[in-house]
Amino acid sequence: MQSNIPPFSNLQASRPTLEGLSPIFSRIEKEFTDAQSPEATRQAIESWNEHRKSIDTWKSITHLNFSQDTQNEAYKSERDYADELSPKLIDFDVRIKKLLLASPHREALTKEFGPQAFALWGADVTTFEPSIEDNLVKEAKLSAEYVELLASAKIDIDGNIVNLSGVAPYATHADRDTRYRAEQARWKFFSDNGEKLDEIFHELTQLRHTMATKLGFENYIGMGYQRMQRVDYKSEDVALFRKQVLEDVVPLAADLRKSQAARLGVDSLMYWDEAAYDLSGNPKPQGDEAWMIQRAREMFDDMGEEIGSFFNMMADQGYLDLDTRAGKAGGGFCTSFADYGVPFVFANFNGTKHDVEVFTHEIGHAFQNWRSRNKPIVDYLWPTYESCEIHSMSLEFLTWPFMELFFKDDAERFRRVHLTESLIFLPYGVAVDEFQHLVYANPSASPDERGEMWREVEQRYMPWRQYGDLSYPASGRRWQLQRHIYGMPFYYIDYTLAQTCALQFWVQANTDRRDAMERYINLCTRGGEAPFQELAQSAGVISPLREGCLKDVVKKAREFLD
Ligand code: ZN
Repeated sequence: MQSNIPPFSNLQASRPTLEGLSPIFSRIEKEFTDAQSPEATRQAIESWNEHRKSIDTWKSITHLNFSQDTQNEAYKSERDYADELSPKLIDFDVRIKKLLLASPHREALTKEFGPQAFALWGADVTTFEPSIEDNLVKEAKLSAEYVELLASAKIDIDGNIVNLSGVAPYATHADRDTRYRAEQARWKFFSDNGEKLDEIFHELTQLRHTMATKLGFENYIGMGYQRMQRVDYKSEDVALFRKQVLEDVVPLAADLRKSQAARLGVDSLMYWDEAAYDLSGNPKPQGDEAWMIQRAREMFDDMGEEIGSFFNMMADQGYLDLDTRAGKAGGGFCTSFADYGVPFVFANFNGTKHDVEVFTHEIGHAFQNWRSRNKPIVDYLWPTYESCEIHSMSLEFLTWPFMELFFKDDAERFRRVHLTESLIFLPYGVAVDEFQHLVYANPSASPDERGEMWREVEQRYMPWRQYGDLSYPASGRRWQLQRHIYGMPFYYIDYTLAQTCALQFWVQANTDRRDAMERYINLCTRGGEAPFQELAQSAGVISPLREGCLKDVVKKAREFLD
């Protein structure tokens, strides 16, 4: 099964041109308009699938090339070309989706593919009209400008020049003064570029509001939800979830911060202490990249044939890019090449425990994509984002019994830190979400007013936060390092919704590991064939959008951490 996956270096994608696309568009559109039966429509969907897979493969390779080397002019111009072409491709897809939504064979097709495809297409057609094409191109350019600005960072910590990913080992160091200097240096970069960062985001908010009103939305919030394809919940449901985090998790998180301060021996936990959990320093993986990959092979082999053989294929065929290099974009992600049915994992190793999380998180995404690579329509290859993160974040917990491989004697300490961070993350994640609701509900706000919005939200959800003399983040600009806020509006609550599901997997795996693993693999195999709450419920977890989803998790976490 896996031997037919070529090495990554052999992947090819044909580069679409407008001239080349136009006859393809006409042919596929004609297949749809001519289709007299469900069978003929199904065949037209097949042609459309092939076209979309080929475009997706080219786009993935283009964006990956750029992320691997943001300084390469050829990659950059190809990325720009892809961004410019994108609205034409969306325009075509929206025309097809409209045809399908109005198809006389819709009922038969719904029987075959399930209602989710129609729900997704129904959302997609509301987010595009040719009149916003130029706005979309501009939006992509501004987002790219932010990515490039951050990738250009050369941060001087004690004479060592690092990029933003490279700050982490200092910012999580056991020595308090080192952590403080790391935060000073990090925020000096943001402060030096503050005007530009404010300006890019200000333009993005104006642009997004303009697009939303052109499409008939009151403001960007409605458009943002549709763009995220949230087909089974609304902003009121998300507000209920945030309220549960505020009531159930914030008190626990505040207690965890207090015991953290006690362990660190500090009177008052400052911003630069937040990433260090005790005086022995955060648990670190005990080897280099090659050693880590070897340990990951052992771990996945032990977790079962499905995931074991999959990971070995990724490692053997070159579908991992893990080291940190100058000019490489920050962060980590998983992408995939639909023509080949194979995913790719991109990361920036920095010697911290975060490196282990690349295996336990990004491989969760990759494994889901692999399990569902043969779904009959492209829209089901990945689920919507909040569902995607269930696969990644749950795997972080399901791999707990194997952490000795990476951390040796520090494994138990790692597990405690991981659980603590997962819980403390929830208030931060919902703060990012509430902030974005405020931003887009008030499009005429100034950058300083946005700073005020962030401060208010931050104080409510993270009452322990103290920036001391770090004046730039204290001015309400901490959110500027959260790249989702620039590049993918409203994409953040997804992590907290998924974390709530993952924590339930943790509770369940503690009583029946085999059953939890089986449900996990089944969930991965479903791919994106159902909306979030249905996927969650089918995997045996309470939807985070329902009252009471966090109570048991918080109780069990207190017991474990006490
Ligand atoms: Zn993820």
